[in-house]
Amino acid sequence: MFLTIGTTGTPERPATDLGFLLHKHPDKAQAFSTSHGSAHVFYPEASAERCTAALLLEVDPVALVRRGKGRGGAPDAALAQYVNDRPYAASSLLSVALAAVFKSALGGVCRAMPERAASPLPLRIEVPALPARGGAELVRKLFAPLGWSRVEVTAVPLDEEFPAWGDSRYVRLVLEGELRLADALRQLYVLLPVLDDAKHYWVAPDEVDKLLRAGEGWLADHPERPLITRRYLSHRWGLTRQADQALELVRLAESDDLDVGCVDNAVDESTDTEEKPVPLAEHRRTAILDALRAAGASRVLDLGCGQGQLVQALLKDVRFTEIVGVDVSMRALTIASRRLKLDRMGERQADRVTLRQGSLTYTDKRLAGYDAAVLSEVVEHLDLPRLPALEYAVFGAARPGTVLVTTPNVEYNVRWETLPAGHVRHGDHRFEWTRAEFRDWAGQVAERHGYTVRYEPVGPDDPEVGPPTQMAVFTRATETGTTTEKKAKEAEAA
Ligand code: SAH
Repeated sequence: MFLTIGTTGTPERPATDLGFLLHKHPDKAQAFSTSHGSAHVFYPEASAERCTAALLLEVDPVALVRRGKGRGGAPDAALAQYVNDRPYAASSLLSVALAAVFKSALGGVCRAMPERAASPLPLRIEVPALPARGGAELVRKLFAPLGWSRVEVTAVPLDEEFPAWGDSRYVRLVLEGELRLADALRQLYVLLPVLDDAKHYWVAPDEVDKLLRAGEGWLADHPERPLITRRYLSHRWGLTRQADQALELVRLAESDDLDVGCVDNAVDESTDTEEKPVPLAEHRRTAILDALRAAGASRVLDLGCGQGQLVQALLKDVRFTEIVGVDVSMRALTIASRRLKLDRMGERQADRVTLRQGSLTYTDKRLAGYDAAVLSEVVEHLDLPRLPALEYAVFGAARPGTVLVTTPNVEYNVRWETLPAGHVRHGDHRFEWTRAEFRDWAGQVAERHGYTVRYEPVGPDDPEVGPPTQMAVFTRATETGTTTEKKAKEAEAA
């Protein structure tokens, strides 16, 4: 198991500084004993212009099999592969060795040259045999968003002399770019076992912390985050969920800062019929309040309530007797609580409102039994693969009588003069839908969960591109009839 880390330099900033950053002297070959064999660090080249460090792990199959004995004393079958076809592949064992041998470098610590450790270096990393469960395409998807200027993935043939046998499960990976050494090492530490997808050791709960630490600065926002957390934590659902929630908080804390630039909250100048232009956000609140009143709702969930503007508007109308705002962002909730002056509110008012932190992609029993739920400008903040989880939590588990979903209509974007062509309205929008796409999604959701759905335009309805915001009003089909019938049948059968 083998990988190399190289850099280039100048007489003033020699490449051999890499030795300081890795805490391993370029003139020495060093060996370390790890729990699975010995790790060697040596430098195939070390000059001022070019310096390359190699990490090689020699697996000790006997130790591995001994350590790998399952609870019943039998050798773990998953380990078998390490003692036959894999001595050269960069598996999760190499990741463990990397963390052990380059611990300080992984943490970005370098007393001798702190500023070099903190700044990007021209790096070249090569992993000659990388297990790639998911294929070369997945390897590219994992490394491409991480700041490398070159990500080269080449299939490794099963046997060079017999090309007809096809490719092996391994690829050769070359990464080049200007990155901090610590960031590059942390990416490898997480992504080697992800690509291996067969951890050789028992995944303990502290793996979540390790993942969060190693993922700092790049994982929360990674488009393949769900796959990375799931595989890194060996598909252990409870741990994956923990990591996902923590990462979601990180991502949102980061994206909170983007809210300022959200075009959606800008003044809508196209409503020239009115004296004073009405902000689109206000159009949206009016449309939502009207729909809630029309549905006769009094106990309402505001899911993804953000900074609490809708909660505030709901409080002004006494027909809304119970209002629950839920958001994953603590920062947004703090602002909401300040806006509502929750701490100075009279008891009667305070009894009507609750703000709660939670992620909408997980079911929450406390959200069941409400008249209505609002998802105002929320769905587009979720990665598309997470949308089914939100769908289930809201329509499948909480099942309010009415659900209102608003989202931008991407067709309208051409009417925003300040929005460059092809851009979404907000830096954190994961997607924006056309009217047809939104209806397609909403129609399927309604059908899957026993709701009917209609659509309403929000804001000036342009004859060509439609309104700036689109709203779906879902109404739960009455279940009483069918339930009664079912009960009657059950009684009969009994
Ligand atoms: N509903 C408000 C805020 C929209 S911004 C309005 O219409 O103005 C989107 C909000 O959704 C943010 O506050 C964000 O923190 C929240 N959000 C995004 N993903 C979430 C999730 N998985 N769980 C709960 N809230 C989420």
